[in-house]
Amino acid sequence: DRVDNPYEGADVYVNPEWSALAAAEPGGDAIANEPTAVWLDRIAAIEGVNGGMSLRDHLDAALEQANGDPIVFQTVIYDLPGRDCAALASNGELGPDEIDRYKSEFIDPIADILSDYAQYDNLRVATVVEIDSLPNLITNVSGDTGTANCQTMAQNGNYQEGISYALSKLGDIPNVYNYIDAGHYGWLGWDSNFGPAAELFHETATMNGASVDDVAGFIVNTANYGPNTEPYYAVTDSVNGTSVRQSDWVDWNNYIDNQSFALAFRDELVSQGFNSEIGMLIDTSRNGWGGPDRPTGPAAMTDLNSYVEGSRIDRRYQTGNWCNQSGAGLGERPTAAPAAGIDAYAWIKPPGESDGASEEIPNDEGKGFDGMCDPTYEGNARNNYNMSGALPNAPLSGHWFSAQFQELLANAYPPV
Ligand code: BGC
Repeated sequence: DRVDNPYEGADVYVNPEWSALAAAEPGGDAIANEPTAVWLDRIAAIEGVNGGMSLRDHLDAALEQANGDPIVFQTVIYDLPGRDCAALASNGELGPDEIDRYKSEFIDPIADILSDYAQYDNLRVATVVEIDSLPNLITNVSGDTGTANCQTMAQNGNYQEGISYALSKLGDIPNVYNYIDAGHYGWLGWDSNFGPAAELFHETATMNGASVDDVAGFIVNTANYGPNTEPYYAVTDSVNGTSVRQSDWVDWNNYIDNQSFALAFRDELVSQGFNSEIGMLIDTSRNGWGGPDRPTGPAAMTDLNSYVEGSRIDRRYQTGNWCNQSGAGLGERPTAAPAAGIDAYAWIKPPGESDGASEEIPNDEGKGFDGMCDPTYEGNARNNYNMSGALPNAPLSGHWFSAQFQELLANAYPPV
């Protein structure tokens, strides 16, 4: 039987492969024992890539770490057909129409393996289901921000088909807790996206045999950089009678940080028909924004934009920037039940793993080159034509990026 919050009273699995990479970095020992998620980002990852650990190896290692006590094993289910339709850095191995392969070669084998571990009462498997995909169907299908690939995925229905299949198959396993990816505040925080996203999630979670009982909750900010909270200004602030919502940075969003967004979105999801027990996760791996450029208090309220610019801890050029952000730091260390409605702060993106190559690198992982990872790129409609803010010299997404790891350590908040 599932518990309400799987993270409560449990340890979380430390991935020995990530831990070794972190420990090999100068200063990395300080965080090498933090739990991070295991990414199933291609079919081959189930059996282990390049001699690496398989899913079974990880599950066995988790049971060993647990030593009989409750443990959460976090894994990212990430191989949809036509994956990452609005960006190129994490395009996957399956073409837009390869839904049958997704089911039979990816989800079915994962479900078979996890079923073998359903007998362990102390093991709780938290799955992060297909990041960015449903949010892409909300904002990136048509209009200025639309892409041809997202239009294809909206038309062929394979994101919804794949996700509902995954939820239903994995949800049949009694110790699996499915968390659906819900973007972040700087994506779904506007009214035009907020309600429609919750509706799309509910529709998807109740089609093809899936049900709301297959959903333990939702995750925000996966592999992203938006802070949990902006401590030095509030969305309700005004400067000389004008709301900060009208500033260039906030741009009419209803939210300025992820925790407020996650809690409000949770209520919206429940009102759409999800269970009232659902919990939210926030990926805090890289949203700390400490270091010397972090403001230490609110700026003067002389001018609307300078107030927001001087007060915000999020130092990105724009909230649509997502690739290897310069100046970022580690965020809150993984924590169970940090607030009512939040199941955990979790490190889903393993700190030190790249978001995408800063220039084209030929590869056999299906990964493309995305300008958003190039520090000289001047942007597109999805980041309102701002500079990308990406670090230079980045390797392919998922590959180790030592310079980024070092910066994340140096700018950690709370400091390491
Ligand atoms: C990549 C995956 C990788 C994951 C975690 C994603 O951006 O596409 O291959 O496993 O990041 O680093």
